[in-house]
Amino acid sequence: MRTLLTRSPQTAAKYILQGDIVAFPTETVYGLGANVFDENALRKIFIAKKRPIDNPFIAHVHNVGDIELLAKRITPSAEKFIAHFFPGPLTVVLPKNDSVPMIATAGLPTIAIRMPHHPIAQALLRDCGVPLAAPSANLSGKPSPTTWQNVLADMDGRISCILKGGQTRVGLESTVVDCTSKVPVVLRTGAITLEQLLRIVPSTRLSGRKSKEQPKSPGMKYRHYSPQARVTIVSQPAEIKSTARAAYIGIRSFGRSNDFLLHRVCGTPKEYAHALFAFLRECDEAKISVIYCQSVEARGIGLALMDRLQRASH
Ligand code: AMP
Ligand code: MG
Repeated sequence: MRTLLTRSPQTAAKYILQGDIVAFPTETVYGLGANVFDENALRKIFIAKKRPIDNPFIAHVHNVGDIELLAKRITPSAEKFIAHFFPGPLTVVLPKNDSVPMIATAGLPTIAIRMPHHPIAQALLRDCGVPLAAPSANLSGKPSPTTWQNVLADMDGRISCILKGGQTRVGLESTVVDCTSKVPVVLRTGAITLEQLLRIVPSTRLSGRKSKEQPKSPGMKYRHYSPQARVTIVSQPAEIKSTARAAYIGIRSFGRSNDFLLHRVCGTPKEYAHALFAFLRECDEAKISVIYCQSVEARGIGLALMDRLQRASH
């Protein structure tokens, strides 16, 4: 299969409407989209990504009104989150509408829904006229793509079309919050911080805090964000043991930059989150064997950043 590169949302929409799958930019990471009502197209996403069949997709909508096409009802907490954070990097999990194929939600009675803010994603959704099921556009297990070049590296020849945009603004995935019960539960930390959610619904809590609780989000049990190189989280310079074929990324400079083949100092946790996934991929291209990543305080965007670093380091 030849993978077409385009900047035209209209061209990309034509592929979607003929049952193909298309990668497109959002403010978080690049997504790999299919018509959410087209079972055959949804199957193509699992194949292209080599994604386990029990890991559901996030459905992307063009406007708040379209949520009704996907969800049976909008719960009170979801109502509040939607009013504050849509369009933007927040995903709400709601009871699923019967018209959505089971394969889109991997058999779950619930559906994850988000309305992206990115103008190119918005234009694509408008031109398609249907919501798009879209996981991140990487091969399963790899870091999520934040540039179209990252998408091409994983998906060349595997998908029909890549809708090109710049590097994504946030760089980490959306926050996923389960709104099906009275108390909202954060299933995946992300671009919208826990602190922001608590300001809107003070009872919101993080998943997995109660003992014996099973993670409710199927995707969280899989290997994730893993480059070829070993990822080691460090909190002080003395933890850096070997600098042979080593790379470093962090907020402050650890050791001498000359000791590393690749060395990135980000300034703030936000910039660190923005740069991380592309840096992990850059390290693979440079055949790095160990990537030292500075740990950050687990609050604000730092909570999601530490989650991704921990998953990448396993
Ligand atoms: P991705 O789009 O690849 O970043 O992954 C989407 C994330 O949302 C995965 O962690 C999924 O397991 C999670 N997800 C999607 N649908 C649901 C759902 N209905 N309930 C809980 N988690 C979900
Ligand atoms: Mg993903």
